This record gives sequence, structure tokens and C-alpha cells, in this order.
Amino acid sequence: MPVSDPRIAVIGGGYAGFAAAVTLAERGVPVSVFEGATTLGGRARRVEHGGLALDNGLHLLMGCYSETLRLIRLVGGKQHEERALVRLPLELRIGGAFRFRTWKLPSPLHLMLGLLTARGLGRGDILAAMRFMLEARGSGFRLRQDMTVTDLLDRRRQPENARRYLWEAICTAALNTPPGEASAQVFLNVLRDSLNGTATDCDLLFARVDLSALLPEPATDFIDKNGGEVITGARVTRIERIATGFRIHSTRSTDEFTHVICACDPARAGHLLEEHSELRRIADALSHYRFEPIHSIYLQYPEQVRLPAPMFGLGDPLKQWAFDREALCNQKGLIGVVISASGPHETMDRNELARTAHRELVRCLGPLPDPRWHLVIAEKRATFACSPNLPRPDQATAVPGLFLAGDYTAGDYPATLEGAVRSGIQCARHILESKR
Ligand SMILES: Cc1cc2nc3c(=O)[nH]c(=O)nc-3n(C[C@H](O)[C@H](O)[C@H](O)COP(=O)(O)OP(=O)(O)OC[C@H]3O[C@@H](n4cnc5c(N)ncnc54)[C@H](O)[C@@H]3O)c2cc1C
Repeated sequence: MPVSDPRIAVIGGGYAGFAAAVTLAERGVPVSVFEGATTLGGRARRVEHGGLALDNGLHLLMGCYSETLRLIRLVGGKQHEERALVRLPLELRIGGAFRFRTWKLPSPLHLMLGLLTARGLGRGDILAAMRFMLEARGSGFRLRQDMTVTDLLDRRRQPENARRYLWEAICTAALNTPPGEASAQVFLNVLRDSLNGTATDCDLLFARVDLSALLPEPATDFIDKNGGEVITGARVTRIERIATGFRIHSTRSTDEFTHVICACDPARAGHLLEEHSELRRIADALSHYRFEPIHSIYLQYPEQVRLPAPMFGLGDPLKQWAFDREALCNQKGLIGVVISASGPHETMDRNELARTAHRELVRCLGPLPDPRWHLVIAEKRATFACSPNLPRPDQATAVPGLFLAGDYTAGDYPATLEGAVRSGIQCARHILESKR
């Protein structure tokens, strides 16, 4: 739909919506972002607690998140990127049982030496893990037919410790889906761009600032300066089609646009799409999505309490990762614990979860005083369940001028910041190309 004078509505101020809006604003296209909440960032946003800026969930970025990192730099400059992110070489430590790190060497030596020097892997595990990566490389990280990660590990005869500490740990953390239910193809996509990439692709990046301040807020300033606007507390209730494009009804205004990018989470996107007959199939598919939770537990200890590493795996029973908030963002004595995906922990109440996380920390680190306070944030629909052959809609839809952005739309990645950002950029590109 070539339009000489486009006006774009972006529904949703999460990472996908901002990626779309910034890409358009950068090219001088007027854009209005409608966000239903008052805090920007969606599933990656600031939560204030007792004067501290925390996040709804501790997030980890990787060196291979090229588009997210580029946008952070674009909206805030190199200084913002350096101030807002800390970059560390990949290191996975799980209690005293497992330790693996990549080396600053050309690929694939960075990984091979990492496997050879890993603690907790026997010779059989190391050889099997190397064979797994070589076979995956040989097939271009493509499967003829998708299956679960567990099935793939069975077929590739991966022994106990290689599965448990390496592949299953990566699968649960990256896909937020238990290996027995997770898509092996998406898992291979993640390995292709991380472990199979360069040593810096595998780097772990942690935000030193909260997740709203990392991208959405500097992006808002960028959009303002480039002639656009970000409206918070504006929940869109209807996307109406009109001769010139779309009328957007929100709780704050009704306005007309030539194009719409619907960048809501999959459940809410489905509701907005269902009135459009061409999109009912997509809305129906979204209504069948299953979701996986993420639980974040903040434990405030006395200032001197530290973890042995900025990120430290606590192993069973909950398979949590603990984060040292002092090492990452100078919040002294604050430990954040993340439990990915569904599991028996969902039956625990918040206090019990906090007590269990504390007990695990004591088991791994030795005696600790009781936390002064704790905060448990349960995001019940943190990510879509990344199951094999999940139908994921394209960014371009059958309605001309209406696009879908979000971590759930077509793409190689599971529900991640990078998946969300790439989808937003793709929507913007469709519009920019149609303008030519
Ligand atoms: C606890 C937790 C931990 C995570 N950890 C990681 C991690 O370590 N690394 C990683 O890469 N990813 C992680 N993720 C996933 C990542 O946060 C998401 O994939 C990403 O934020 C999704 O962005 P999005 O823009 O697609 O959707 P969302 O963030 O859901 O954004 C959608 C936005 O649309 C708004 N909205 C919805 N309906 C309307 C409406 N009708 N009108 C106006 N606005 C509307 C919502 O309020 C929201 O702001 C985690 C997620 C959670 C919840």
C-alpha cells in the first residue's frame, strides 16, 4: 500500500513496539506509540520496590543480540550503551558441580577449549557434546522435521551430564520451556547464533539500569525528537478499518492512521485482531497458545553478601539461576533468583518460594543470615511455550497496512528481547519499502 504521507500507530510499548517505532522515526516517519500501562517496556519493565529500581524479571542479553544492542546504541549513544550494560564472557557455574566457560579464541576453538576444560563433564560427555555441535553445524542447524529437545538429545545419544548441565540448562533458560516440550529447531537456532558464533556472540550482557531505562525510555526521547509521540495509559480497544487506513480507538483518544503495527503480547493481539475476518485464523491460532511462567525472587541480605560469580546456577531442586545485583548494578547485598518455565515450584506460595531459594543459596554458599526482605514476582505468561512446529504469524498480514510485531511472530528465536526487536524492525521495513 504505497502512501506518500504515512502516519503510523504502534500499539504496545514493549521492546517490539519500540523497535518498530524507532526504526520509523529514524527515517522521519511520524509515529504514535500507544501503551496501555503507565510504565514502558511490557514484559521487560521497571518495578519499584522500597526505593529500589528492580525489574519484573531479571533479563539476560547475549552478544548475538545484534539488533537490540544496535538500537540501545542508536537511541542513547555509545555512552548509554557502556553505562547501561555490563558484558561478561559466557560462564555457566552450577553449584560446585559444573563450570563451563568460553575462551577468547576464534570459533570453534572458543567452544572446544571450553568443553575440554569444563568441570563436571566426563570424557564421554565432552566428546558427545562436541559431536552434537559438529553434527548440528554439518546440517546447517536445520532439522528436516521439528521434534522436542529431549527427542533430539536422545537421537544424538547425549549422555547424562552433557544433557543436564549443558543442553537442558541452556534450553530451559533460553526457550523457557522444559526440554521435553521445547522445539529442537528453535533450540538449534539459538545454538547457531550463540555457541556456534564468535566468542563475543556468546558473551552475556546484563543491564546495569532497569529494563525501562535500558531501551524504552531513551527510545521515547528519540521518537519525540524525531516528530513522533509515545502515549502511556492509552489502551487500544479497537482497530477499525476506514477508507484511508485505520481508526484507532484508545482509552485516551480516537485518531486516524495510514498503517498500524500491533505490537501487543499474543493474547491481547488476538483480541484486537478477531474482528477482522482475514485475521481470524491468526486470532484463533493465538487463542490456542500455551504460556510458560518465570518467577523472580529478590532476597535482600546484609551488604557484604555476594555470590561467587555475577550469575550462579543453584541446580536442583528448582534449577534456579542466582544473580549478584551488586556485581551487576551496585545494589549491595541484593540477590535475584530466577526460576524459568513451569514445574513443581508453581504449587508453592511466594513465601515458600523465597524460603526455598534462600535454603538453596545456603546449600551452595554456606551459612547466610535470613534476608531482611524478599519480593517474589510471578509472571505467569512470561513467554509463549516454545513447542515444536508452533504456528507463528508473519509480520505482514492479509489486511494491507496492518502488521504484527512481537516475540511470538515469525522468526528464528524463542520469546526473547532480540526476537521482539527483530519483529518490530521487520514491520518498519515493510512500511518503509511500501513508501518507495
Ligand atoms: C520474567 C521474564 C524474564 C525474561 N527473561 C528474558 C531474558 O533473560 N532474556 C530475553 O531475551 N528475554 C527474556 N524475557 C522475554 C522478553 O521479556 C520478551 O520476549 C519481550 O519483552 C517481549 O516483548 P514484546 O514487545 O514482544 O511484548 P511485550 O513486552 O508483552 O509488549 C507488549 C506491550 O503491549 C502493551 N499492550 C497490550 N495490549 C495493549 C493495548 N490493547 N493497547 C495498548 N498497549 C497494549 C503491553 O502493556 C506491553 O507493554 C523474559 C520475560 C519475562 C516476563
